[in-house]
Amino acid sequence: MADVKSVGVIGGGQMGSGIAQLAAVAGISVWLVDLDSEALKRATKSITNSVQRFVSKGQISQEVATNALKNLRCTSNLEDLQSADVIIEAIVESEDVKKKLFSELDRIAKPSAILASNTSSISITRIASATSRPCQVIGMHFMNPPPIMKLVEIVRGADTSNETFMTVKTMAERFGKIIVCSQDYPGFIVNRILMPMINEAFFTLYTGVATKEDIDTGMKLGTNQPMGPLELADFIGLDVCLSIMKVLHVGLGDSKYRPCPLLVQYVDAGRLGRKRASKEFVVT
Ligand code: NAD
Repeated sequence: MADVKSVGVIGGGQMGSGIAQLAAVAGISVWLVDLDSEALKRATKSITNSVQRFVSKGQISQEVATNALKNLRCTSNLEDLQSADVIIEAIVESEDVKKKLFSELDRIAKPSAILASNTSSISITRIASATSRPCQVIGMHFMNPPPIMKLVEIVRGADTSNETFMTVKTMAERFGKIIVCSQDYPGFIVNRILMPMINEAFFTLYTGVATKEDIDTGMKLGTNQPMGPLELADFIGLDVCLSIMKVLHVGLGDSKYRPCPLLVQYVDAGRLGRKRASKEFVVT
C-alpha cells in the first residue's frame, strides 16, 4: 500500500473543489486542475471560505487551515500532475469525456500513480479500459458537499487490484470518511436508490399530483429527510441527475429508469439548479 503524499484533482466545480480541500486539510500536497480559469478562482475562494468556517466552528486549528491553503496549487495544465501519487477526476458526467481524459492521464501520470474517478454512475471497468493500467483505476465517489458528507463509496472495476483499493481506502479514512464498497454496476449503491426517487419526484410534479412545495415538504416531514427530492436535485445539479438516470436506463435496460420528460426539458433549457442560479431554486 502506497503512502500518498501528492494528489491531483481534475475539475474545480462543486465536487472537485471540495475533494481538493479534503486532501489539503489532510496535509497532502494538491494540484487542482480545471480548463476554466474562472472555475479555479471560484474554487480557491470557496476552499478559503470553507476552511475558515471549519476554524470558526473549532473543527480544525488555524494552523491546519493555513497549511491547507499552502498545500493547494491550481493549474490548467494536466502535465503538472506528473508526480501525483493519486489523481482524482471530477469533471463532467460523460463516459466519452472521462475516457478521453483517462487515456491522457495514463500517458502523463507516473507508472505507479492511481487514477480514481468521482463518477456518480459510470462503469469504472469501462473508464479503466481507456488506460494501460486498469488495476490502478478505481471509483472514489464522494457525496456533496465533500468536506461535510461522511461517506465515500469505493467502486472496484473488474481489474482493480487489492493494493489500489487499500491505498484509496486508507486515503479516504485520512480524510475522515467512512467508506462503503460497491460492485461496478450502474449507479453503484447510493445513486441506484436515490436517483429513481428524485426522478419519481419530477414525475409527481409533471403529472400534476402536487406542487413542488408539497412534494418536498411531504418527503421531508413524511420520511424524515433533511431536504426534499426536488430541492436535493437543485443542489446536485439537474444535468448530473439526468446523466445518472440515462446511465441507469441504458445500463439496467428497464423502462422504470426512463428520465422524466420534465427533467429533460429543464436541462435542455439550461435550468440546472443552484450551481447556475445562485439563490434561486429552478424547479418550478
Ligand atoms: P461541475 O459542473 O460543478 O464541475 C465540473 C468541472 O469540471 C467544471 O469546473 C469544468 O470546467 C471542469 N472540466 C470539465 N471538463 C474538464 C477537463 N477535461 N479537464 C479539466 N476540467 C474540466 O460538476 P460536479 O457537480 O462537480 O460533478 C463532477 C463529477 O462528480 C461528475 O462526474 C458527477 O457525476 C460527480 N458527482 C457529482 C455530485 C453532485 O452532487 N453534483 C456528487 C457526487 C459525484
